Amino acid sequence: MTLLDGKKTAADIKEEIALEVKNLKENGKKTPHLAAIIVGNDGASLTYVNAKVKACERVGFESTLIRLTENTTELELLNQITSLNIDDNIDGFIVQLPLPKHINEQKVLMAVDPKKDVDGFHPTNVGKMALNLPTFISATPFGILELLERYKVETSGKHVVVLGRSHIVGSPMSILLSQKRTVGNATVTMCHRRTKNLKEFTLKADIIVAAIGIPEFLKADMVKENVTVIDVGITRLADASKKNGFRLVGDVAFEEVSKKSEFITPVPGGVGPMTIAMLLKNTLLACQRSNS
Ligand code: NAD
Repeated sequence: MTLLDGKKTAADIKEEIALEVKNLKENGKKTPHLAAIIVGNDGASLTYVNAKVKACERVGFESTLIRLTENTTELELLNQITSLNIDDNIDGFIVQLPLPKHINEQKVLMAVDPKKDVDGFHPTNVGKMALNLPTFISATPFGILELLERYKVETSGKHVVVLGRSHIVGSPMSILLSQKRTVGNATVTMCHRRTKNLKEFTLKADIIVAAIGIPEFLKADMVKENVTVIDVGITRLADASKKNGFRLVGDVAFEEVSKKSEFITPVPGGVGPMTIAMLLKNTLLACQRSNS
């Protein structure tokens, strides 16, 4: 069994990005600048967004965190987005999800200039991704592709089963892995909440991408020998023995499934750290595009 070490790979990518930033600075070019908007006080969202801002600082990016109160109106948020769209100093920005219920998420994501949409959520960028055109691939699927590539996991001709059909993970993952690209050319089956006899599919999979959000859903009796498993799930389970009162659990019963796996990602330390690294990569890309 080989562990697909997202923590180490993400650190390598961040080092490469830091080197690029150093080069940009030495050549008198603009330094990448990422902005993040967060609305409200959700604890997990604040943790995620702070981690993104800190990661920017570590690689030498500029960063701006815009904190808006829970009762911010949709119009106020849209105005904030317009300001970032027209600000030449900002290369890319993200709107941390989820948003409060009174704000229409789709409307907000549509308002982001696709050239600055480093999360890759704008329909223009999703469309380009689906057509295999150059664009921002959203950070989690991008991170999975990168992890598979760096560990030289063969995907061509393999049967991939994707569990979950969300817009941010399952759906793009199934599209990307079936495309004609370096990490791709797979035969993909997508399973979701309504899939019947799911085990019949997972047992035939060479590679499983689990993105459903059910702790330890995928058990050893659901996979074949030498399977590759990408565990995207992150659920916080209460754990009094931990300092912060919780532990992170993936969608895969790691102990038992890892014994049958050729490659597997751990949780934490797998897909999670890759997501932030690829957001930085997209921001660097946005900056390089605006520099050229
Ligand atoms: P989601 O929560 O929006 O949707 C869950 C998906 O799972 C749905 O498509 C649903 O049809 C499917 N599903 C639910 N129960 C199922 C079952 N019994 N069998 C088969 N399919 C089932 O999905 P999401 O936003 O992609 O999140 C999934 C998990 O991944 C969550 O734990 C989330 O926290 C995590 N996540 C992690 C990262 C990361 O950076 N590591 C990024 C995004 C999401």
